[in-house]
Amino acid sequence: MTERVVHKFGGTSLADASCFRRVADIIAARPESHRAVVVSAMSGVTNALIRAVELAGARDADGYSRVLAELREKHQRALADLVPARTAAEVDAVIERDLAAITDVLHATTLLRRSSRETLDLVAGYGEIWSAQLLHALLVTNGTPCAWINARDVLVAEWDDANVQIDWTASRVRLDERFSASNLPATLIITGFVASTHDGVATTLGRNGSDFSASIFAALLDASEIHIWTDVDGVMSANPRLVPEALMLGDMSYDEAMELAYFGAKVIHPSTMAPAVQRGLPIYIRNTFKPELIGTRIHVGPSTGFPVKGLATIESIALLNLEGTGMIGVPGTAQRLFGALRDEGISVVMVSQGSSEHSICFAVPSAVADDAREAVERAFFAERHHGQIQRVEVASECSILAAVGDGMAGTPGIAAKFLSALGKARVNIRAIAQGSSERNISVVVDAADTTRALRAAHSGLYLSDQTLSVGIVGVGNVGSELMRQLAAQSARLKRHFDIDLRVRALSTSTHMLLSERPIDLEAADRNAIARGEPLNLERLVAHVHAEYLPHAAIIDCTASDEVASQYESWLARGIHVVTPNKRANTAGMDYYRRLRNANRTVGAHYLYETTVGAALPIIQTLRDLIQTGDEIIEIEGILSGTLSFLFNSLDGRRSFSELVTHARDLGYTEPDPRDDLSGMDVARKVVILAREMGLSLELGDVEVKSLVPEALQSGTVSEFLAALPAHDAEMEATRRSAAKAGNVLRFVGRVTRDGEASVGLCPYPASHPFARVQLTDNIVLFRTGRYRDNPLVVQGPGAGREVTAAGVFADLLRLASYLGAVL
Ligand code: ADP
Ligand code: ASP
Ligand code: MG
Repeated sequence: MTERVVHKFGGTSLADASCFRRVADIIAARPESHRAVVVSAMSGVTNALIRAVELAGARDADGYSRVLAELREKHQRALADLVPARTAAEVDAVIERDLAAITDVLHATTLLRRSSRETLDLVAGYGEIWSAQLLHALLVTNGTPCAWINARDVLVAEWDDANVQIDWTASRVRLDERFSASNLPATLIITGFVASTHDGVATTLGRNGSDFSASIFAALLDASEIHIWTDVDGVMSANPRLVPEALMLGDMSYDEAMELAYFGAKVIHPSTMAPAVQRGLPIYIRNTFKPELIGTRIHVGPSTGFPVKGLATIESIALLNLEGTGMIGVPGTAQRLFGALRDEGISVVMVSQGSSEHSICFAVPSAVADDAREAVERAFFAERHHGQIQRVEVASECSILAAVGDGMAGTPGIAAKFLSALGKARVNIRAIAQGSSERNISVVVDAADTTRALRAAHSGLYLSDQTLSVGIVGVGNVGSELMRQLAAQSARLKRHFDIDLRVRALSTSTHMLLSERPIDLEAADRNAIARGEPLNLERLVAHVHAEYLPHAAIIDCTASDEVASQYESWLARGIHVVTPNKRANTAGMDYYRRLRNANRTVGAHYLYETTVGAALPIIQTLRDLIQTGDEIIEIEGILSGTLSFLFNSLDGRRSFSELVTHARDLGYTEPDPRDDLSGMDVARKVVILAREMGLSLELGDVEVKSLVPEALQSGTVSEFLAALPAHDAEMEATRRSAAKAGNVLRFVGRVTRDGEASVGLCPYPASHPFARVQLTDNIVLFRTGRYRDNPLVVQGPGAGREVTAAGVFADLLRLASYLGAVL
């Protein structure tokens, strides 16, 4: 038995010569013994032909001539690229003849001053007639035996009202006349979209009708499968052009596909289904550009997977509301209403009636909204006159958003999720309808809200509640290490804890990289960001704060005051902030309070564990102590890795200035070591701890004993480094006198419960914990009511890119757990 498959290639798959080549390769590689290939016009051609007819109707001969010239050009260019000159000339001659015929028709249209439906149907169909011949010529050139037919010679169809009827018997007879069943070629190319009436007048199957052509020919040719080749991987949970994170559907039932298509998912045309459904033929939606993928299989059902298959929208909808006490309990109201609409030929897209029967609302295409209102007003003239019906309201700029899926029937909670996602995105719902098949829930929203509603509903139904849209500002040492750590862990976090971290923005101090899809953190680096666009922080933040992702977080890895000054506005917008930047917490006390309160007022979290001691658990420890009722008496600590290193190394063998230069060479200091030696960095950490203790302390309240000699405070870095040795003797004398008493020097920050805060060099006995720290260790002693005699000690490396990045990462996970993740 011959196995026959029908393939349909859409306009997007036939955009140019290289697309034709790709299609020819797919056909050549097909395993079935026989196939029919239904083609659309090259992309844009149908629209151009329709435009030409419109221009002719408007008597713009120059206009339509230009359009036709462009079409000639487009096809000639593809032909010249695809086939030998002689073949190209042959096909070209045919196209020339067609164009001459079109020109005659359009000229006549100009004279008549109006275009008829017949003119439109005749002209619009040429795109398919040309593309079929292009593909045929290419396949023949490649040595693939094939024939092509113009469906106008075979398919018989008639329009009544808004529907096209196929005359199956006549079509089958004509096909048999062309090819007896035995002599059908292995590959048959067929024009999509076009057909003829019984009288032989050219007609079409309506816009996007090639899908329908495919299933009609599948029925006529007794095919076993239909493959619809397009420019997406298959049917997705929503239009991927509108919802970037739409998911691929492995399969769906005919019913689901039909509902989705009806609700505007143009990846498949609704009427495609009928002939396929009757025969139970599976339909595959596949990507021409990725033929290795199997695509979405549409079949009898039931389908597998998530209960909601997809979301789709219908735009340009008007919502009419008929309201009045006179309708309560009056039988036949609905019948009269819809009867009046039917008499006007108006098709109602959606209906909703509250059980109080006080109002009925229904949706119609915007274009017929006025006709619908007039029809209803006429039908209820008497009731309006007597005041039983108060008004007929029209909201003319609306859209319908529908969630579709067989599995919604009997799965509780789907409607709640759908509606609450819309509520969270502050989308106003004007009407709701759920069919009793429960295969579809539809809502009417304002047109302006359409995309936002679609995206919000999609994220509510398909994404984890712990999906975070993340932006990393200031990718440098810490930021790039954080990217590395995130890249290594994100798949595991997703799999085990349903935490979906999507880094969608990166920036340096000058440039930024924004991406709809999560950025590949292994591939992206500072160079990739530098190739991006100039930094615009507001745009970056707005991008990260995508309404269709459940949460947004900015990670500030800069040390910038300017960035820190934005936190308040970000938090106010509900954007979470994670940062190792100390600037915000050491700005004015009022600003600090507002940031800390954001959690309570707007539910946005502000996390900054790494501002003191990098990843060491210092802030969290302090918080736990306070929240469990302990009283903090004093906090004292070595809070600078740089200064820790300098004094851990100062043993009289090397001078202080030598050690500073050495530390600078190792990258342990700021570019200007005075930034460390001034003690200001330590003072900032003291302020952060003090404020965490509940003290109201400003940076200026901290008594700071700087290690930078008065005379060296100005001048360049190299001048400073050159002049520092002159002060070595003084430092050595301090060290020696401390050593004589059995002490070592440590640079320490301290704050007491009374608000005394100081930073400076102090001697400590060899037995003190501060005397035993190593390298760049930080150490913090908490003296509290509970830990009075023997303080609580937190010690360990308190600087370095790896640990700091890990600390930021831990804050991000803490955020995810605040948002509901169970880690
Ligand atoms: P063709 O030219 O192949 O017929 P179309 O442009 O008519 O292609 O249809 C494919 C397009 O359908 C996709 O590019 C996509 O933008 C759109 N689309 C709308 N809804 C969906 C959906 N749910 N899944 C996939 N694609 C969709
Ligand atoms: N070319 C026709 C259209 O653009 C039919 C199709 O592509 O399906 O509507
Ligand atoms: Mg299409």
